[in-house]
Amino acid sequence: MNRGPHGRSREAAGEDSDNRAAAHVRRRALGWSEAASDGWLDGARRLHSPNHDLRPPDTAVDLLVVHHISLPPGRFSGDAVQRLFTNRLDCDAHPFFAQLRGVRVSAHFLVRRRGDLLQFVDCDARAWHAGVSSFRGRERCNDFSIGIELEGDGSTPFTQAQYRRLAQLTAALCTRYPLRWVAGHSDIAPGRKTDPGPYFDWQQYLGSVQACGLSRPFTD
Ligand SMILES: [Zn+2]
Repeated sequence: MNRGPHGRSREAAGEDSDNRAAAHVRRRALGWSEAASDGWLDGARRLHSPNHDLRPPDTAVDLLVVHHISLPPGRFSGDAVQRLFTNRLDCDAHPFFAQLRGVRVSAHFLVRRRGDLLQFVDCDARAWHAGVSSFRGRERCNDFSIGIELEGDGSTPFTQAQYRRLAQLTAALCTRYPLRWVAGHSDIAPGRKTDPGPYFDWQQYLGSVQACGLSRPFTD
């Protein structure tokens, strides 16, 4: 199902400005500083979320989980997602936010529409992104996964800047963690979650990270 490095679909018209804006971001290399003994990635903007805890001892982090989020859904600007993940969201600021009162969630990463990359939780720690979930017979996917949120709403195509950044991020993560699998949130929580949704191009993404050897053991 992989199309290889030259099989990527053409960029949609109108994304040139997106690409220019993200160019400075893409030029920033992602990697792990030699001195770092933690799972904070150089090249990502750090916003520490308190919504995390320890992974169970001796857990191999072998799964990437792809999500989408925007708050309110469909609004691709502002900082509501960052506020949600850091427990600073004003739940009176929008009617949709009322259902988020008291919710404590996070993801390791957020990739914004122009490719900007934010990190909220040390990848060595357990972020709270998957909820009740199961992957190949293993429950509690937060234990052994890294969660990546793409800014999106399930009814709008993701940007090429996001695909490029996600590929770059995946490659960096594969150098530190024994990642073997990738899944959408809907794959591991079917019936409960629908993200990243039908507009996420798995073929393009998997083609762009072939060198990592990741498999998605699901079909749409
Ligand atoms: Zn999700």
